[in-house]
Amino acid sequence: MNCHCGSGSSYQACCGRFLSGEQWPETAEALMRARYSAYVEGEDGFLIDSWHPLSCPSQFESILNQQWLGLKILAVNQGRLGDGSGSVEFVATFKVSGKVETLHEVSEFVREQGRWCYLSGILKQ
Ligand SMILES: [Zn+2]
Repeated sequence: MNCHCGSGSSYQACCGRFLSGEQWPETAEALMRARYSAYVEGEDGFLIDSWHPLSCPSQFESILNQQWLGLKILAVNQGRLGDGSGSVEFVATFKVSGKVETLHEVSEFVREQGRWCYLSGILKQ
């Protein structure tokens, strides 16, 4: 099975190893992809774990009636192995109530105690 995030790699070699807890993503982009896959898989635990404590909602449940159709990474700014922060601009496509919608966001990531986490997102038009 190809990974949900559209990387072209197998799920196990890509986001699967992060969602299973075997490894933690080494870059902001890898975490962004893993979080997308977590939404597809309904892995709320991973979404909460990878959320910065300052911005993580106290009550969180992903929307299950939403069918995710694809992810496209548009731009990556920093967020590499040695960086402390980074951002990833992406478009995610999904279907809800039979209608195709897109989410265009710039996500901000920071590294906390060596682990990348999701801080916040700015919606783009
Ligand atoms: Zn992936």
